[in-house]
Amino acid sequence: MIYRTQVGIVGAGPAGLVLGHLLHLEGIDSVVLEARDREYVEQRVRAGVLEQNTVNLLDEMGVGERMKREGLVHEGLELRFGGRGHRIDLAGLTGGRSITVYGQQEVVKDLIAARLEAGRELLFEVEDVELEGVDTEAPAVAFTHGGERRRLSCDVVAGCDGFHGVCRDAVPEGALTHHEREYPFGWLGVLAEAEPSSDELIYTHHDRGFALHSMRSPSITRLYLQCPPGEDVGEWPDDRIWEELNTRMELAEGFSLHEGPIIEKGVTPMRSFVAEPMQHGRLFLAGDAVHIVPPTGAKGLNLAVADVRVLSRALARWYDSGDESGLESYSETCLRRVWRTQYFSWWMTSMLHRLPDDRDGFQARLQRAQLDYVCSSESAARTLAENYVGFDSVEAPG
Ligand SMILES: Cc1cc2nc3c(=O)[nH]c(=O)nc-3n(C[C@H](O)[C@H](O)[C@H](O)COP(=O)(O)OP(=O)(O)OC[C@H]3O[C@@H](n4cnc5c(N)ncnc54)[C@H](O)[C@@H]3O)c2cc1C
Repeated sequence: MIYRTQVGIVGAGPAGLVLGHLLHLEGIDSVVLEARDREYVEQRVRAGVLEQNTVNLLDEMGVGERMKREGLVHEGLELRFGGRGHRIDLAGLTGGRSITVYGQQEVVKDLIAARLEAGRELLFEVEDVELEGVDTEAPAVAFTHGGERRRLSCDVVAGCDGFHGVCRDAVPEGALTHHEREYPFGWLGVLAEAEPSSDELIYTHHDRGFALHSMRSPSITRLYLQCPPGEDVGEWPDDRIWEELNTRMELAEGFSLHEGPIIEKGVTPMRSFVAEPMQHGRLFLAGDAVHIVPPTGAKGLNLAVADVRVLSRALARWYDSGDESGLESYSETCLRRVWRTQYFSWWMTSMLHRLPDDRDGFQARLQRAQLDYVCSSESAARTLAENYVGFDSVEAPG
């Protein structure tokens, strides 16, 4: 079967779904193709911190109603080290900007509901996706759905299929340059049915390694522990997790986490990755398909949304007036924000994690000196705050 749309979107994560809805609002047709089933995509626990820009965009798109009701607005965060907590006043340092804690799977649920209500096509459980003719003016996406092989011809293909997708590999060899760093640690992440132990996120530097206290709702806590990369979750029974978290997060005046049943556990590797340029012919790559940041800066989802905001505007201009300039500069525009965000995520990661080869504690002392500075200098604290809440404009300042 052969059929047609204007924009073929591969992947129904935050990037693909936000793009599809932005295009719908511009009257541009698209088809979204997703490898997994709907339930899997709607239950997948990942990011949970939304920048002010992301919140504003979801709201402007008309998909922010539940986020506004259920999301937790945070105006500060805590840096904890040496047994003391230090609050960074995000709002006070950035002219009132804040972050909202609202799970990625909730964002995805809201976007899927909006897509179905708009009556635009979204196919789950597609298989064997192959891109054709991305170098030409008539690209296509071939795939199998319900046992039938189909060919979707389009004007443009948006590769929003995450790090392990197929779109990046559809670019001819040598046309993309890959930049990559693997970190010598990972994160053990857990979800617990427990009331959060603090109203704000707590980023902890400790001799035994990094720990993070976050939350998803007033009754669900999200917690992370630095661990070796590729750690076996089986090595971490619940008691060990709580004990290690309490040790790393201890305060001189005393502190203990609210504990509860652990309902999910997983290990995430830590890497920085960028492939550039983010476009080739009529293929435009967005989100994790083309860049990965370590999660310490809470930027992965926000960066994916920022990419497709640029892409949707460029496509709207092209369809409206034939002006190709936004499409031509898509990669260049996005990469300024991508590299700014890579730097911030690397900086937060380097400042907060125990480095396995730091035998004499030299690196740990540098980290403590930097943390002291961030917590005692208003300019240093503002640098963290303005990066954490995210930059206002589409392009990050250079
Ligand atoms: C385990 C994990 C934990 C994370 N935790 C955090 C966190 O705490 N904080 C944070 O900021 N960020 C976190 N991230 C990063 C954040 O979740 C991502 O940056 C974000 O999901 C990027 O959105 P995306 O739409 O670009 O990609 P994705 O969300 O990966 O979506 C891509 C979609 O494409 C689909 N797909 C893949 N291949 C194909 C194919 N061949 N055909 C069709 N569809 C395909 C996938 O099933 C998926 O639905 C985490 C990521 C992972 C993997």
